[in-house]
Amino acid sequence: MLITAPHAQGPGADVFTGEIAWKVAQATGAYALVATVSRRAKLEDGNPADYNREWARNTPFRRRIDELIKRYGVRFIIDVHGMESDPVRPDVDLGTLGGRSAKGKLVSKIVKRLEEAGFDVGFEQEFQGGDILEYHCDGERVQGVQLELSEELRELGEYRAIQAVLVVVNTVLEEV
Ligand SMILES: [Zn+2]
Repeated sequence: MLITAPHAQGPGADVFTGEIAWKVAQATGAYALVATVSRRAKLEDGNPADYNREWARNTPFRRRIDELIKRYGVRFIIDVHGMESDPVRPDVDLGTLGGRSAKGKLVSKIVKRLEEAGFDVGFEQEFQGGDILEYHCDGERVQGVQLELSEELRELGEYRAIQAVLVVVNTVLEEV
């Protein structure tokens, strides 16, 4: 299990996603990979240092994901992001690239468990997932989901974002 937080670093950070990934990893034994560079910084080729984009596949962050899959047996990726608050947005928007990055049965179970834990869950309401899922998850041998966590869940002192990611980890561990 790997938890990624590619937009953890400001300016322009998905605030607290690095801390969330780190804490859930510590609690569960999952790996965590947290960006230490802002997505507004530039890569050597001039592209933005957004690790969830196709052009970033050859960065150390993305090569490390490959290594964790190939050498450390990672079979599931939870890519953690933060979305700005909006009344029409759910607490958690779950992305699976239209169903390609994870098996439907498992995704349904994740949604059900999150709802049972009291979260308002959207399924690809706005966010389908990015290149981390696209490139590293085939939906069979390596599965993955993107979690967009609302701002309310990530406020200082708020534990619900951590709880949401824990629910996903625990549901996946039952199945994978
Ligand atoms: Zn993000």
